[in-house]
Amino acid sequence: MNTLRDTVCRAHLDLANSGLVIGTFGNLSVVDRAAGVFAIKPSGVPYDRLSPDRMVRVSLMTGAVIDGDLRPSSDTPTHLELYRAFVDCGAIVHTHSEYATMLAQARLPIRCMGTTHADYFRGDVPVTRPMREEEVERDYEKNTGVVIVETFRSERLSPADVPAVLVANHGPFAWGPDAAHAVEHARVLEYLARLDWRARLVAPDAPRPGRFLIDKHYLRKHGPGAYYGQK
Ligand SMILES: [Zn+2]
Repeated sequence: MNTLRDTVCRAHLDLANSGLVIGTFGNLSVVDRAAGVFAIKPSGVPYDRLSPDRMVRVSLMTGAVIDGDLRPSSDTPTHLELYRAFVDCGAIVHTHSEYATMLAQARLPIRCMGTTHADYFRGDVPVTRPMREEEVERDYEKNTGVVIVETFRSERLSPADVPAVLVANHGPFAWGPDAAHAVEHARVLEYLARLDWRARLVAPDAPRPGRFLIDKHYLRKHGPGAYYGQK
């Protein structure tokens, strides 16, 4: 039995239990960079029919399916683009979770308005530009990845510091060093989207917190100077 496929299957069960996905929406992949492969959900298979042997392995180099009888998630080319551009990324989660998708449809970022957000994301979670007609008609899923990468480059964001994005008029992608972190980021992202939606309602003009507060909260949990939690 393949360890990577076990990991990906187990993580899909966590995702299914998270309340972030309905029906066959959403998908998750985990990469093994040493082996040059990632494993991803098969396309259109319900979560309760998933098993390790049904996970599809894809080459990081060529994007071709390596083994498995089933077709990989239709979003596979998006995952491939992200793994190639974000070299520290170990796992990717895509959902259509309600509040994050609502803000993606409104083309609004999830603003970093407080420490709950800054504990996980060092600043706003950005929203991509809308995709152009030719980008949608040709290589749509690959171009979804391309616009995500473009967003991080043009806004000079670190995908390690801000491990999520809202794809305009679509929904969120989140990632992390491994499957557990990627799922956690997708869950927290949904909570933060709900918080920011309410903050926008109750006080549309509320001032932003200082950069020093955001950095304090982010850096006490992440990086070499982290001191939050147990050793
Ligand atoms: Zn989607």
